[in-house]
Amino acid sequence: MSTSTQRTTDAVLDYDDVVAAYDPVMGLEVHVELHTNTKMFCGCPTAFGAEPNTQVCPVCLGLPGALPVVNAVAVESAIRIGLALNCEIASWCRFARKNYFYPDMPKNFQTSQYDEPIAFNGWLDVEVPAESGEGTEVFRVEIERAHMEEDTGKSTHVGGATGRIHGATHSLVDYNRAGIPLIEIVTKPILGAGERAPEVARAYVAGLRDLLKALDVSDVRMEQGSMRCDVNLSLMPKGADRFGTRSETKNVNSLRSVERAVRYEMCRHGAVLQGGGSIVQETRHWHEDTGVTTSGREKSDADDYRYFPEPDLVPVAPPREWVEQLRTTLPEPPAERRKRLQSDWGFSDLEMRDVVNAGLVELIQETVVAGASPAAARKWWSGEIARRANAEGQDVPTYAAVLGVTPRHVVELESLVTSGRLNDSMARQVWEGVLAGEGTPTEVSDARGLELVQDSGALEAAVDEVIAANPDIADKIRDGKVQAVGALIGQVMKTMKGQADASAVRELIIAKLT
Ligand code: ADP
Ligand code: MG
Ligand code: ZN
Repeated sequence: MSTSTQRTTDAVLDYDDVVAAYDPVMGLEVHVELHTNTKMFCGCPTAFGAEPNTQVCPVCLGLPGALPVVNAVAVESAIRIGLALNCEIASWCRFARKNYFYPDMPKNFQTSQYDEPIAFNGWLDVEVPAESGEGTEVFRVEIERAHMEEDTGKSTHVGGATGRIHGATHSLVDYNRAGIPLIEIVTKPILGAGERAPEVARAYVAGLRDLLKALDVSDVRMEQGSMRCDVNLSLMPKGADRFGTRSETKNVNSLRSVERAVRYEMCRHGAVLQGGGSIVQETRHWHEDTGVTTSGREKSDADDYRYFPEPDLVPVAPPREWVEQLRTTLPEPPAERRKRLQSDWGFSDLEMRDVVNAGLVELIQETVVAGASPAAARKWWSGEIARRANAEGQDVPTYAAVLGVTPRHVVELESLVTSGRLNDSMARQVWEGVLAGEGTPTEVSDARGLELVQDSGALEAAVDEVIAANPDIADKIRDGKVQAVGALIGQVMKTMKGQADASAVRELIIAKLT
Protein backbone atom coordinates (compact mmCIF):
# COMPACT_ATOMS: atom_id res chain seq x y z
CA MET A 1 0.00 0.00 0.00
CA SER A 2 1.23 3.45 -0.82
CA THR A 3 1.74 5.85 2.07
CA SER A 4 1.60 8.88 -0.17
CA THR A 5 -1.08 11.45 0.50
CA GLN A 6 -2.31 11.05 -3.08
CA ARG A 7 -5.25 8.70 -2.79
CA THR A 8 -7.91 7.80 -5.24
CA THR A 9 -11.01 9.89 -4.92
CA ASP A 10 -14.04 8.06 -3.64
CA ALA A 11 -17.14 7.86 -5.77
CA VAL A 12 -20.01 10.04 -4.59
CA LEU A 13 -23.72 9.79 -5.27
CA ASP A 14 -25.78 12.85 -6.11
CA TYR A 15 -27.17 14.39 -2.92
CA ASP A 16 -30.78 14.31 -4.14
CA ASP A 17 -30.45 10.61 -4.96
CA VAL A 18 -29.00 9.91 -1.50
CA VAL A 19 -31.89 11.53 0.36
CA ALA A 20 -34.44 9.93 -1.95
CA ALA A 21 -33.23 6.42 -1.08
CA TYR A 22 -31.70 6.68 2.41
CA ASP A 23 -32.22 8.17 5.86
CA PRO A 24 -29.04 9.57 7.39
CA VAL A 25 -28.16 8.86 11.03
CA MET A 26 -25.65 11.16 12.69
CA GLY A 27 -23.73 11.17 15.94
CA LEU A 28 -21.79 14.27 16.90
CA GLU A 29 -18.97 14.17 19.44
CA VAL A 30 -17.78 17.60 20.46
CA HIS A 31 -14.65 18.14 22.50
CA VAL A 32 -14.39 21.46 24.22
CA GLU A 33 -11.37 22.77 26.12
CA LEU A 34 -12.34 24.53 29.31
CA HIS A 35 -10.66 27.87 29.91
CA THR A 36 -9.70 27.16 33.50
CA ASN A 37 -6.51 28.82 34.69
CA THR A 38 -4.90 25.50 35.49
CA LYS A 39 -4.95 21.97 34.07
CA MET A 40 -7.36 19.17 34.91
CA PHE A 41 -5.18 17.27 37.38
CA CYS A 42 -2.27 19.60 38.18
CA GLY A 43 -1.55 23.29 38.73
CA CYS A 44 0.15 23.97 35.39
CA PRO A 45 -1.09 27.05 33.52
CA THR A 46 -3.19 26.61 30.39
CA ALA A 47 -2.41 29.77 28.40
CA PHE A 48 -2.46 29.28 24.63
CA GLY A 49 0.63 29.92 22.52
CA ALA A 50 3.38 29.59 25.13
CA GLU A 51 6.87 28.33 24.27
CA PRO A 52 6.60 24.51 23.83
CA ASN A 53 7.01 22.39 26.95
CA THR A 54 7.14 25.30 29.37
CA GLN A 55 3.76 24.57 31.01
CA VAL A 56 4.40 21.06 32.27
CA CYS A 57 5.08 19.26 35.55
CA PRO A 58 5.59 15.66 36.76
CA VAL A 59 1.80 15.07 36.84
CA CYS A 60 0.97 16.10 33.27
CA LEU A 61 4.18 14.49 32.01
CA GLY A 62 3.22 11.23 33.71
CA LEU A 63 6.47 10.92 35.66
CA PRO A 64 6.64 8.03 38.15
CA GLY A 65 5.08 8.72 41.52
CA ALA A 66 3.23 11.90 40.50
CA LEU A 67 -0.32 12.05 41.82
CA PRO A 68 -3.24 13.87 40.14
CA VAL A 69 -5.76 16.09 41.94
CA VAL A 70 -9.06 17.04 40.31
CA ASN A 71 -9.56 20.69 39.34
CA ALA A 72 -12.73 21.80 41.18
CA VAL A 73 -13.46 24.59 38.68
CA ALA A 74 -13.44 22.03 35.86
CA VAL A 75 -15.95 19.86 37.72
CA GLU A 76 -18.12 22.90 38.32
CA SER A 77 -17.98 23.78 34.61
CA ALA A 78 -18.83 20.20 33.65
CA ILE A 79 -21.89 20.27 35.90
CA ARG A 80 -23.03 23.64 34.55
CA ILE A 81 -22.62 22.35 30.97
CA GLY A 82 -24.59 19.24 31.86
CA LEU A 83 -27.38 21.28 33.43
CA ALA A 84 -27.50 23.70 30.48
CA LEU A 85 -27.88 20.65 28.22
CA ASN A 86 -30.83 19.44 30.31
CA CYS A 87 -28.86 16.42 31.54
CA GLU A 88 -29.11 14.46 34.74
CA ILE A 89 -26.06 14.96 36.94
CA ALA A 90 -24.49 11.86 38.43
CA SER A 91 -24.60 11.80 42.21
CA TRP A 92 -21.43 9.72 42.13
CA CYS A 93 -19.03 9.05 39.28
CA ARG A 94 -15.45 8.12 38.65
CA PHE A 95 -12.63 8.75 36.25
CA ALA A 96 -11.30 5.90 34.15
CA ARG A 97 -8.04 5.17 32.39
CA LYS A 98 -8.29 4.82 28.64
CA ASN A 99 -5.13 2.93 27.77
CA TYR A 100 -3.31 3.42 24.53
CA PHE A 101 0.06 4.56 23.32
CA TYR A 102 0.55 7.76 21.43
CA PRO A 103 3.63 10.00 21.59
CA ASP A 104 1.61 13.07 22.49
CA MET A 105 0.18 11.29 25.52
CA PRO A 106 3.03 10.91 28.00
CA LYS A 107 1.17 8.76 30.56
CA ASN A 108 0.23 6.16 27.91
CA PHE A 109 -3.32 6.48 29.12
CA GLN A 110 -5.84 9.28 29.03
CA THR A 111 -7.69 10.03 32.23
CA SER A 112 -11.28 10.14 31.06
CA GLN A 113 -14.71 8.91 32.08
CA TYR A 114 -16.19 5.75 30.65
CA ASP A 115 -19.42 4.19 31.91
CA GLU A 116 -19.85 6.77 34.68
CA PRO A 117 -20.07 10.20 33.03
CA ILE A 118 -20.78 13.25 35.17
CA ALA A 119 -23.79 14.23 33.00
CA PHE A 120 -26.14 12.14 30.86
CA ASN A 121 -29.53 12.02 29.14
CA GLY A 122 -30.07 15.57 28.00
CA TRP A 123 -31.10 17.50 24.94
CA LEU A 124 -30.46 20.72 23.05
CA ASP A 125 -33.04 22.39 20.85
CA VAL A 126 -31.61 23.95 17.71
CA GLU A 127 -33.19 26.12 15.07
CA VAL A 128 -33.13 24.96 11.47
CA PRO A 129 -34.91 26.07 8.31
CA ALA A 130 -38.48 24.70 8.38
CA GLU A 131 -39.30 21.67 6.28
CA SER A 132 -41.93 23.73 4.48
CA GLY A 133 -39.09 25.96 3.27
CA GLU A 134 -40.44 29.03 5.08
CA GLY A 135 -39.14 30.33 8.38
CA THR A 136 -37.42 28.19 10.97
CA GLU A 137 -38.38 25.38 13.28
CA VAL A 138 -36.95 23.73 16.34
CA PHE A 139 -35.15 20.39 16.03
CA ARG A 140 -34.35 18.55 19.25
CA VAL A 141 -30.95 16.86 19.46
CA GLU A 142 -30.71 14.35 22.27
CA ILE A 143 -27.54 14.21 24.32
CA GLU A 144 -26.20 10.88 25.48
CA ARG A 145 -23.56 12.16 27.86
CA ALA A 146 -21.08 14.87 28.72
CA HIS A 147 -17.96 13.64 30.43
CA MET A 148 -14.71 15.04 31.78
CA GLU A 149 -11.30 14.16 30.41
CA GLU A 150 -7.95 15.72 29.61
CA ASP A 151 -6.42 16.89 26.37
CA THR A 152 -3.33 15.33 24.82
CA GLY A 153 -0.15 17.14 23.78
CA LYS A 154 0.37 18.35 20.25
CA SER A 155 2.58 16.72 17.63
CA THR A 156 4.15 18.61 14.78
CA HIS A 157 5.38 16.52 11.86
CA VAL A 158 8.39 18.10 10.20
CA GLY A 159 10.00 17.61 6.81
CA GLY A 160 7.05 16.45 4.71
CA ALA A 161 5.12 18.47 2.20
CA THR A 162 1.77 18.23 3.94
CA GLY A 163 2.49 18.55 7.66
CA ARG A 164 1.02 15.08 8.09
CA ILE A 165 2.98 12.18 9.51
CA HIS A 166 3.39 10.51 6.11
CA GLY A 167 6.54 11.81 4.47
CA ALA A 168 7.77 13.58 7.60
CA THR A 169 11.41 13.16 8.62
CA HIS A 170 10.79 13.68 12.32
CA SER A 171 8.14 14.83 14.76
CA LEU A 172 8.13 17.31 17.63
CA VAL A 173 5.87 17.05 20.67
CA ASP A 174 4.62 19.92 22.81
CA TYR A 175 3.09 18.82 26.12
CA ASN A 176 1.72 22.25 27.10
CA ARG A 177 -1.72 21.10 26.04
CA ALA A 178 -1.44 17.72 27.78
CA GLY A 179 -3.79 17.73 30.74
CA ILE A 180 -5.92 20.74 29.77
CA PRO A 181 -9.49 20.00 30.90
CA LEU A 182 -11.79 18.76 28.15
CA ILE A 183 -15.47 18.07 28.18
CA GLU A 184 -16.68 15.60 25.56
CA ILE A 185 -20.33 15.97 24.64
CA VAL A 186 -21.82 13.06 22.72
CA THR A 187 -25.23 13.02 21.05
CA LYS A 188 -27.54 10.06 20.81
CA PRO A 189 -28.02 8.96 17.20
CA ILE A 190 -29.74 11.86 15.44
CA LEU A 191 -32.59 10.51 13.33
CA GLY A 192 -35.22 12.15 11.20
CA ALA A 193 -33.16 15.06 9.90
CA GLY A 194 -33.41 13.69 6.35
CA GLU A 195 -32.14 16.04 3.70
CA ARG A 196 -31.55 18.70 6.35
CA ALA A 197 -28.96 16.54 8.15
CA PRO A 198 -25.99 18.76 7.17
CA GLU A 199 -27.86 21.87 8.38
CA VAL A 200 -28.96 20.18 11.59
CA ALA A 201 -25.36 19.17 12.33
CA ARG A 202 -24.15 22.71 11.77
CA ALA A 203 -26.98 24.24 13.79
CA TYR A 204 -26.26 21.86 16.67
CA VAL A 205 -22.57 22.69 16.81
CA ALA A 206 -23.36 26.41 16.48
CA GLY A 207 -26.00 26.16 19.22
CA LEU A 208 -23.61 24.29 21.46
CA ARG A 209 -20.89 26.87 20.84
CA ASP A 210 -23.25 29.73 21.72
CA LEU A 211 -24.35 27.94 24.86
CA LEU A 212 -20.78 27.26 26.00
CA LYS A 213 -19.88 30.86 25.31
CA ALA A 214 -22.86 32.07 27.34
CA LEU A 215 -21.77 29.74 30.16
CA ASP A 216 -18.32 31.33 29.96
CA VAL A 217 -16.57 27.98 30.35
CA SER A 218 -14.48 27.92 27.17
CA ASP A 219 -13.06 30.14 24.44
CA VAL A 220 -14.93 27.85 21.98
CA ARG A 221 -12.61 28.82 19.12
CA MET A 222 -12.92 26.11 16.52
CA GLU A 223 -10.08 27.54 14.43
CA GLN A 224 -7.72 27.35 17.44
CA GLY A 225 -8.93 23.87 18.32
CA SER A 226 -10.52 24.75 21.66
CA MET A 227 -13.72 23.23 20.23
CA ARG A 228 -13.52 20.26 17.85
CA CYS A 229 -16.14 18.01 16.35
CA ASP A 230 -16.09 14.38 15.24
CA VAL A 231 -18.85 13.54 12.80
CA ASN A 232 -20.30 10.00 12.85
CA LEU A 233 -22.53 9.19 9.94
CA SER A 234 -24.36 6.23 8.51
CA LEU A 235 -27.21 5.69 6.07
CA MET A 236 -30.21 3.39 6.36
CA PRO A 237 -32.24 2.44 3.31
CA LYS A 238 -35.64 4.13 3.73
CA GLY A 239 -37.93 1.90 5.75
CA ALA A 240 -35.07 -0.10 7.32
CA ASP A 241 -35.15 -0.70 11.06
CA ARG A 242 -31.44 -1.12 11.73
CA PHE A 243 -28.70 1.48 11.60
CA GLY A 244 -26.08 1.17 8.90
CA THR A 245 -22.34 1.04 9.57
CA ARG A 246 -20.91 4.43 10.52
CA SER A 247 -17.81 6.33 9.59
CA GLU A 248 -16.27 8.77 12.06
CA THR A 249 -14.73 11.90 10.55
CA LYS A 250 -12.31 13.36 13.08
CA ASN A 251 -11.50 16.90 14.12
CA VAL A 252 -13.72 18.92 11.86
CA ASN A 253 -12.85 22.46 12.86
CA SER A 254 -15.36 24.95 11.53
CA LEU A 255 -19.13 25.16 11.37
CA ARG A 256 -19.02 25.23 7.61
CA SER A 257 -16.83 22.12 7.55
CA VAL A 258 -19.25 20.24 9.83
CA GLU A 259 -22.01 20.87 7.32
CA ARG A 260 -19.82 19.97 4.35
CA ALA A 261 -18.40 16.84 6.00
CA VAL A 262 -21.88 15.46 6.73
CA ARG A 263 -23.00 16.14 3.18
CA TYR A 264 -19.86 14.61 1.69
CA GLU A 265 -20.07 11.48 3.83
CA MET A 266 -23.74 11.06 2.91
CA CYS A 267 -22.82 11.14 -0.78
CA ARG A 268 -19.85 8.81 -0.30
CA HIS A 269 -21.84 6.28 1.73
CA GLY A 270 -24.63 6.54 -0.84
CA ALA A 271 -22.29 5.61 -3.68
CA VAL A 272 -20.87 2.61 -1.79
CA LEU A 273 -24.29 1.29 -0.79
CA GLN A 274 -25.86 1.94 -4.19
CA GLY A 275 -23.01 -0.02 -5.79
CA GLY A 276 -23.78 -3.01 -3.55
CA GLY A 277 -20.71 -2.46 -1.37
CA SER A 278 -20.49 -2.14 2.39
CA ILE A 279 -19.16 0.67 4.54
CA VAL A 280 -16.03 0.02 6.56
CA GLN A 281 -16.29 1.21 10.16
CA GLU A 282 -13.32 3.55 10.33
CA THR A 283 -12.14 7.00 11.26
CA ARG A 284 -11.68 9.46 8.41
CA HIS A 285 -9.78 12.71 7.91
CA TRP A 286 -11.51 15.83 6.67
CA HIS A 287 -9.71 17.89 4.02
CA GLU A 288 -10.81 21.49 4.15
CA ASP A 289 -9.21 22.43 0.83
CA THR A 290 -10.70 19.70 -1.34
CA GLY A 291 -13.89 19.13 0.67
CA VAL A 292 -13.44 15.36 0.88
CA THR A 293 -12.65 12.80 3.57
CA THR A 294 -9.99 10.11 3.33
CA SER A 295 -9.60 6.88 5.20
CA GLY A 296 -7.92 6.96 8.62
CA ARG A 297 -7.78 3.83 10.69
CA GLU A 298 -10.22 0.97 11.00
CA LYS A 299 -12.00 1.05 14.30
CA SER A 300 -14.39 -1.41 15.83
CA ASP A 301 -16.93 -0.59 18.54
CA ALA A 302 -15.00 -2.80 20.95
CA ASP A 303 -11.87 -0.72 20.70
CA ASP A 304 -9.74 -2.35 23.31
CA TYR A 305 -8.73 0.52 25.49
CA ARG A 306 -8.78 -1.65 28.61
CA TYR A 307 -10.71 1.00 30.48
CA PHE A 308 -10.50 0.63 34.23
CA PRO A 309 -11.40 2.95 37.13
CA GLU A 310 -8.64 5.46 37.88
CA PRO A 311 -7.09 4.32 41.18
CA ASP A 312 -5.30 7.60 41.92
CA LEU A 313 -8.42 9.80 42.01
CA VAL A 314 -11.31 9.81 44.45
CA PRO A 315 -14.80 9.51 42.96
CA VAL A 316 -16.66 12.73 42.22
CA ALA A 317 -19.85 12.97 44.27
CA PRO A 318 -21.32 16.45 43.87
CA PRO A 319 -23.75 17.26 46.70
CA ARG A 320 -27.27 17.97 45.42
CA GLU A 321 -27.34 21.41 47.05
CA TRP A 322 -24.24 22.37 45.08
CA VAL A 323 -25.80 21.15 41.83
CA GLU A 324 -28.96 23.13 42.55
CA GLN A 325 -26.93 26.19 43.41
CA LEU A 326 -25.07 25.84 40.09
CA ARG A 327 -28.41 25.58 38.30
CA THR A 328 -29.17 29.12 39.46
CA THR A 329 -26.02 30.35 37.67
CA LEU A 330 -27.14 29.21 34.22
CA PRO A 331 -27.45 31.91 31.57
CA GLU A 332 -30.61 32.55 29.61
CA PRO A 333 -30.61 29.94 26.79
CA PRO A 334 -29.08 31.61 23.69
CA ALA A 335 -32.12 30.97 21.46
CA GLU A 336 -34.46 32.60 23.99
CA ARG A 337 -32.06 35.44 24.50
CA ARG A 338 -31.94 36.07 20.74
CA LYS A 339 -35.73 36.21 20.59
CA ARG A 340 -35.86 38.66 23.47
CA LEU A 341 -33.15 40.87 21.97
CA GLN A 342 -34.83 40.84 18.56
CA SER A 343 -38.02 42.16 20.07
CA ASP A 344 -36.18 44.69 22.29
CA TRP A 345 -34.25 45.95 19.29
CA GLY A 346 -37.19 45.92 16.90
CA PHE A 347 -35.28 43.98 14.22
CA SER A 348 -37.11 42.05 11.49
CA ASP A 349 -36.52 38.28 11.23
CA LEU A 350 -34.25 38.90 8.27
CA GLU A 351 -32.26 41.61 10.06
CA MET A 352 -31.85 39.43 13.12
CA ARG A 353 -30.78 36.45 11.04
CA ASP A 354 -28.11 38.52 9.32
CA VAL A 355 -26.92 39.88 12.66
CA VAL A 356 -26.71 36.38 14.14
CA ASN A 357 -24.97 34.92 11.10
CA ALA A 358 -22.44 37.73 11.14
CA GLY A 359 -21.74 37.08 14.84
CA LEU A 360 -22.78 40.62 15.77
CA VAL A 361 -25.22 39.95 18.62
CA GLU A 362 -22.74 40.61 21.45
CA LEU A 363 -21.24 43.66 19.79
CA ILE A 364 -24.64 45.21 19.15
CA GLN A 365 -25.69 44.43 22.69
CA GLU A 366 -22.59 46.16 24.08
CA THR A 367 -23.12 49.11 21.78
CA VAL A 368 -26.73 49.53 22.84
CA VAL A 369 -25.70 49.28 26.50
CA ALA A 370 -23.10 51.98 25.80
CA GLY A 371 -25.90 54.26 24.61
CA ALA A 372 -26.46 53.77 20.87
CA SER A 373 -29.81 53.03 19.25
CA PRO A 374 -30.15 49.40 18.07
CA ALA A 375 -30.61 50.62 14.49
CA ALA A 376 -27.38 52.61 14.54
CA ALA A 377 -25.49 49.76 16.19
CA ARG A 378 -26.68 47.37 13.50
CA LYS A 379 -26.00 49.83 10.70
CA TRP A 380 -22.42 50.68 11.63
CA TRP A 381 -21.28 47.20 12.64
CA SER A 382 -22.74 45.47 9.60
CA GLY A 383 -21.62 47.96 6.95
CA GLU A 384 -18.11 48.84 5.84
CA ILE A 385 -16.36 47.15 8.77
CA ALA A 386 -18.12 43.85 8.05
CA ARG A 387 -17.05 44.02 4.42
CA ARG A 388 -13.45 44.62 5.42
CA ALA A 389 -13.47 41.92 8.11
CA ASN A 390 -14.84 39.48 5.59
CA ALA A 391 -12.10 40.33 3.11
CA GLU A 392 -9.56 39.64 5.87
CA GLY A 393 -11.26 36.34 6.68
CA GLN A 394 -12.08 37.51 10.21
CA ASP A 395 -15.26 37.97 12.16
CA VAL A 396 -16.28 41.53 12.98
CA PRO A 397 -15.66 41.40 16.75
CA THR A 398 -12.11 40.10 16.26
CA TYR A 399 -11.42 42.55 13.47
CA ALA A 400 -12.84 45.49 15.45
CA ALA A 401 -10.62 44.53 18.40
CA VAL A 402 -7.59 44.46 16.11
CA LEU A 403 -8.46 47.92 14.75
CA GLY A 404 -9.24 49.22 18.25
CA VAL A 405 -12.72 50.25 17.17
CA THR A 406 -15.19 50.02 20.07
CA PRO A 407 -18.91 50.44 20.85
CA ARG A 408 -18.06 53.93 22.21
CA HIS A 409 -17.05 54.97 18.69
CA VAL A 410 -20.46 53.99 17.35
CA VAL A 411 -22.22 55.84 20.16
CA GLU A 412 -20.19 58.96 19.43
CA LEU A 413 -20.77 58.73 15.68
CA GLU A 414 -24.50 58.42 16.19
CA SER A 415 -24.61 61.40 18.50
CA LEU A 416 -22.76 63.51 15.92
CA VAL A 417 -25.54 62.63 13.48
CA THR A 418 -28.45 63.20 15.86
CA SER A 419 -27.00 66.50 17.08
CA GLY A 420 -27.02 67.68 13.47
CA ARG A 421 -23.25 67.98 13.13
CA LEU A 422 -22.98 65.26 10.45
CA ASN A 423 -25.33 64.06 7.76
CA ASP A 424 -25.39 60.44 6.69
CA SER A 425 -22.84 60.68 3.93
CA MET A 426 -20.44 62.62 6.18
CA ALA A 427 -20.95 60.07 8.92
CA ARG A 428 -19.87 57.36 6.48
CA GLN A 429 -16.71 59.27 5.70
CA VAL A 430 -16.02 59.81 9.38
CA TRP A 431 -16.53 56.07 10.04
CA GLU A 432 -14.02 55.28 7.31
CA GLY A 433 -11.57 57.56 9.06
CA VAL A 434 -12.21 55.78 12.36
CA LEU A 435 -11.60 52.40 10.67
CA ALA A 436 -8.42 53.81 9.14
CA GLY A 437 -7.13 54.57 12.64
CA GLU A 438 -7.50 58.35 12.38
CA GLY A 439 -9.04 58.65 15.83
CA THR A 440 -12.46 59.00 17.41
CA PRO A 441 -15.40 60.19 15.30
CA THR A 442 -15.06 63.73 16.70
CA GLU A 443 -11.34 63.77 15.99
CA VAL A 444 -11.88 62.51 12.44
CA SER A 445 -14.69 64.99 11.86
CA ASP A 446 -12.45 67.84 13.07
CA ALA A 447 -9.36 66.71 11.19
CA ARG A 448 -11.17 66.12 7.91
CA GLY A 449 -13.26 69.27 8.26
CA LEU A 450 -16.45 67.24 7.98
CA GLU A 451 -19.20 69.26 9.57
CA LEU A 452 -22.57 70.50 8.44
CA VAL A 453 -22.74 74.23 7.97
CA GLN A 454 -24.63 75.47 11.01
CA ASP A 455 -24.56 79.08 9.82
CA SER A 456 -28.16 79.68 8.78
CA GLY A 457 -27.17 82.86 6.93
CA ALA A 458 -24.84 80.93 4.59
CA LEU A 459 -27.47 78.27 4.00
CA GLU A 460 -30.16 80.84 3.25
CA ALA A 461 -27.89 82.67 0.83
CA ALA A 462 -27.21 79.42 -1.03
CA VAL A 463 -30.93 78.63 -1.22
CA ASP A 464 -31.79 82.11 -2.50
CA GLU A 465 -29.06 81.86 -5.11
CA VAL A 466 -30.28 78.51 -6.39
CA ILE A 467 -33.94 79.65 -6.50
CA ALA A 468 -32.94 82.74 -8.46
CA ALA A 469 -30.93 80.64 -10.92
CA ASN A 470 -33.83 78.21 -11.53
CA PRO A 471 -37.01 80.27 -11.96
CA ASP A 472 -38.82 77.50 -13.91
CA ILE A 473 -38.37 74.92 -11.19
CA ALA A 474 -39.26 77.47 -8.52
CA ASP A 475 -42.52 78.19 -10.35
CA LYS A 476 -43.40 74.50 -10.47
CA ILE A 477 -42.96 74.24 -6.72
CA ARG A 478 -45.06 77.38 -6.21
CA ASP A 479 -47.77 75.65 -8.32
CA GLY A 480 -47.73 72.74 -5.89
CA LYS A 481 -45.39 70.29 -7.68
CA VAL A 482 -43.41 69.65 -4.52
CA GLN A 483 -41.54 66.69 -6.02
CA ALA A 484 -39.54 69.20 -8.09
CA VAL A 485 -37.83 70.32 -4.91
CA GLY A 486 -35.29 67.48 -5.22
CA ALA A 487 -33.53 69.19 -8.12
CA LEU A 488 -33.04 72.36 -6.07
CA ILE A 489 -31.84 70.46 -3.00
CA GLY A 490 -29.22 68.79 -5.15
CA GLN A 491 -27.93 72.14 -6.36
CA VAL A 492 -27.85 73.67 -2.91
CA MET A 493 -25.90 70.66 -1.61
CA LYS A 494 -23.48 71.13 -4.46
CA THR A 495 -22.98 74.80 -3.65
CA MET A 496 -22.48 73.86 0.01
CA LYS A 497 -20.02 71.08 -0.97
CA GLY A 498 -22.24 68.50 0.67
CA GLN A 499 -21.85 70.11 4.08
CA ALA A 500 -25.51 70.94 4.58
CA ASP A 501 -28.32 68.99 6.15
CA ALA A 502 -30.52 67.95 3.21
CA SER A 503 -33.74 67.94 5.22
CA ALA A 504 -33.06 71.47 6.53
CA VAL A 505 -32.42 72.60 2.95
CA ARG A 506 -35.68 71.04 1.85
CA GLU A 507 -37.66 72.77 4.59
CA LEU A 508 -36.07 76.10 3.78
CA ILE A 509 -36.86 75.88 0.04
CA ILE A 510 -40.45 74.87 0.69
CA ALA A 511 -40.87 77.64 3.27
CA LYS A 512 -39.61 80.20 0.78
CA LEU A 513 -41.76 79.03 -2.16
CA THR A 514 -45.10 78.06 -0.63
P1 ADP B 1 -16.66 6.07 19.80
O1 ADP B 1 -15.89 5.98 21.07
O2 ADP B 1 -16.49 4.91 18.91
O3 ADP B 1 -16.45 7.36 19.11
P2 ADP B 1 -19.04 7.06 20.99
O4 ADP B 1 -20.13 6.32 21.66
O5 ADP B 1 -18.17 7.97 21.79
O6 ADP B 1 -18.18 6.00 20.22
O7 ADP B 1 -19.66 7.96 19.86
C1 ADP B 1 -20.36 7.43 18.79
C2 ADP B 1 -21.29 8.46 18.26
O8 ADP B 1 -21.89 7.97 17.07
C3 ADP B 1 -22.44 8.78 19.16
O9 ADP B 1 -22.83 10.13 18.97
C4 ADP B 1 -23.54 7.84 18.69
O10 ADP B 1 -24.82 8.36 18.93
C5 ADP B 1 -23.28 7.82 17.21
N1 ADP B 1 -23.63 6.55 16.54
C6 ADP B 1 -23.62 5.31 17.04
N2 ADP B 1 -23.98 4.42 16.10
C7 ADP B 1 -24.18 5.12 14.95
C8 ADP B 1 -24.56 4.78 13.61
N3 ADP B 1 -24.76 3.52 13.24
N4 ADP B 1 -24.66 5.78 12.73
C9 ADP B 1 -24.44 7.06 13.07
N5 ADP B 1 -24.09 7.44 14.30
C10 ADP B 1 -23.95 6.49 15.23
MG1 MG C 1 -15.66 8.88 18.92
ZN1 ZN D 1 1.24 19.79 35.03
